[in-house]
Amino acid sequence: MNIMRINYTNVGIIFSLVVVLYIFYKLSHSSSERNPLPASVTPRTSNKLPTESSIDLKSLASIAKGGLFDVSLRQAQETIEALQKQLAEAEVSRDTVQKKDMETVKRKFSGHKLVHLDLKGAPTKMTFLIQVLPYFKKWGATGLLVEYEDMFPYKAEYEVLQAKNSYSEAEIKQLLETAAANDLIIIPLVQTFGHLEFVLKHKEFAYLRETEHYTNSLCPNNKDSVPMVIELIDQVLALHPGLQWFHIGGDEVWNLKTCPVCLKDARNKSELFVHHMKPILKHLQGKKVTPIMWDDMMRYWPLEYLKELGPLVEPMVWAYRSDLTGYFPPDMWQRYGKAFKKIWAASAFKGATHPWSNFVPIGFHVQNNLYWLDIISKLPSTLEVNGVALTGWSRYDHYATLCELLPAALPSLAFCLGALSEGYMDEELKKVIAKGLGLPETFPLNVERFNSK
Ligand SMILES: [Zn+2]
Repeated sequence: MNIMRINYTNVGIIFSLVVVLYIFYKLSHSSSERNPLPASVTPRTSNKLPTESSIDLKSLASIAKGGLFDVSLRQAQETIEALQKQLAEAEVSRDTVQKKDMETVKRKFSGHKLVHLDLKGAPTKMTFLIQVLPYFKKWGATGLLVEYEDMFPYKAEYEVLQAKNSYSEAEIKQLLETAAANDLIIIPLVQTFGHLEFVLKHKEFAYLRETEHYTNSLCPNNKDSVPMVIELIDQVLALHPGLQWFHIGGDEVWNLKTCPVCLKDARNKSELFVHHMKPILKHLQGKKVTPIMWDDMMRYWPLEYLKELGPLVEPMVWAYRSDLTGYFPPDMWQRYGKAFKKIWAASAFKGATHPWSNFVPIGFHVQNNLYWLDIISKLPSTLEVNGVALTGWSRYDHYATLCELLPAALPSLAFCLGALSEGYMDEELKKVIAKGLGLPETFPLNVERFNSK
């Protein structure tokens, strides 16, 4: 029995030695194939173990070959323990790096989040609208950007502008009261240059058109143009006491400087734009209301033109694509930073893919809103962003076909507001919002791509 025990012990020692030597061989062989890594290289960029081990494997192997089994086994054990420790440390380090890289970049936006109500197409009944306002608030909205167009009860000679289903004064007061009760500010929007089809289509105002057969724009050289839009503004102001901001539109004046009078005008398009807008902006400033204006007509302006309007207006910069890389002129933000103190951004939660779209691509709009957060985080420090308006277009213009309707876009609005409020969108946030909407947690929204830097 003693002999047998001794034999088993010897066999065990020899077997262990063989195993250890095999490990040494593999490690040495493997090590020779690798390029030495500097200590600063993280395990994420390479899963290789550091090769600058304090343990000399070759000398250890030499000792083992010399028959010093006890020493070699002890040292082999120490080697294995040291390697295991290094491996464990490397795993922890790798996990930390990967976790940090995968961590969502949160850019919570604390400014205003306005829900744009484009009432020039399929306007909802007021009874519906006041029911959804509490949900807007719950989802993160702080206000409404209300583009009444022909849904406002204009009076006197402007009564002709009213649509047959336009809101009554009582309904608008109900909207304002409900908004106030839900702590939502109101910013009305009245177009003052382009997109005035709802005015210029009427024969009473046709003489103000820039182009006889096109109802988009006013002629800035007609002496009645500015008084007409100021009257519209004043009527809307009268029904909205205590406003801090008022949006005067001003986008897409496509046919600027095309009428015979304007063509003879020595001023260029930008100068004519300033000439038309300046008195309107000053009118609002005189009433202690800050004007907001779409920015697209000014994007390529030199700084000297921008400075003409800088003290008078807060531009609202709009962009609705899911990827805004290279979307704006390269130096636009720098020029805006020198000309304006405060700006607004405009994203979209519906009506921004195709004029005929009848489907709301939620992921597209969530990506757009998150992209805006990225842009805002990189703006010149001189620019303060008052808020983001989440536009919800119903028609691309007064005569266009309808695109997505508001009720169908409410889930998109909830997800977009959630993304803006929290600064990210991930699987967990998606589940929370889906649950709040009564949607299954498995609601399909590809959120992984939103988490890239
Ligand atoms: Zn003209």
